[in-house]
Amino acid sequence: MLFRQLFDPESSTYTYLLADATTREAILIDPVLEQVERDLDVIQGLGLKLVYALDTHVHADHVTALGALRERLGARTVVSERAGVGCADVLVKEGNAIRFGAHHVTVLETPGHTSGCVTYVTGDRAMAFTGDALLIRGCGRTDFQEGDAHQLFRSVHGKLFTLPDEAAIYPAHDYHGRTMTTVDEERRLNPRLGEGKTCDAFVEIMGKLALAYPKKIDVALPRNARCGSELVSGEPPEVRPWAPVAVSLGGIPEVLPEWVAAHVGDVRLIDVREPDELRGELGHIAGAACVPLATLMSVLEATPRERPLVFVCRSGGRSGKAALVAAGLGFAQAASMHGGMIAWNQQHYPVTRQAAT
Ligand code: FE
Repeated sequence: MLFRQLFDPESSTYTYLLADATTREAILIDPVLEQVERDLDVIQGLGLKLVYALDTHVHADHVTALGALRERLGARTVVSERAGVGCADVLVKEGNAIRFGAHHVTVLETPGHTSGCVTYVTGDRAMAFTGDALLIRGCGRTDFQEGDAHQLFRSVHGKLFTLPDEAAIYPAHDYHGRTMTTVDEERRLNPRLGEGKTCDAFVEIMGKLALAYPKKIDVALPRNARCGSELVSGEPPEVRPWAPVAVSLGGIPEVLPEWVAAHVGDVRLIDVREPDELRGELGHIAGAACVPLATLMSVLEATPRERPLVFVCRSGGRSGKAALVAAGLGFAQAASMHGGMIAWNQQHYPVTRQAAT
């Protein structure tokens, strides 16, 4: 089997390339987006065909290259089914095998750093890619991403420490220039999880770490939940509501006068009363266009759609009808001002009685 350990200095992340030397089928574990060109060079230079790109968990410290490798090389992406990453092609669980040529890695679920952490173990049990479940003389933090120190202790002792003594541990990171360790070494020498450390002692150690907030977590987590893509193609962008629209019992989308008062410049205001009402006692909101309900349809057909529409009338009845007319014409951002000019005046917002356009 062909094996390469690659490194991203910015996040201190190790990426592992494993390949069948005969069929040239390869897998890549924990690739980093910023290193995708390097990884492509290595893969192409060695004449390999990347069949799978795997993550050990949803990383908080770097953006994964899974999506990019799928796009560039057609690799299938692999993540734990517990990781909550819907974009992956293969969602694995305990005991599943990922095959490349005559070789495979088997999935061991090792939660605790995150609830969706897995370790990939080679078929001969000679190598284990532990992600952040077990690091060289350390382990991943347990204070984010549904981390759980009790669970991590059980994962390490119940699963990783039952691998053969001489099995090589390849972690997702090392911050001190070390490249690998073995099960025997960590069982004896790991200061948190090794010899003599009970689960309670481990939980206490993890509880006292007081680590800084992960630098890239706010960028990395949402992107990694999309396999590293900013936006998965075909998936509609998350739509932020244009206003806090409430739908009345009659099915009318409504916004409150206070919201309108704060957003007069952001919306197209259309007063659907008769012109003399706009000059009357209640007045009208400065900047509102006067479009009596009877003429609304033809005016709306010629109205550009880039700005949201807010309809206004005396008490909200006619403007509610107007909002429904607009919705019927396909205006996605249109609402009636709840309570009309009566409510507006009651709240002492400014009015004008000049003739409106
Ligand atoms: Fe991690």
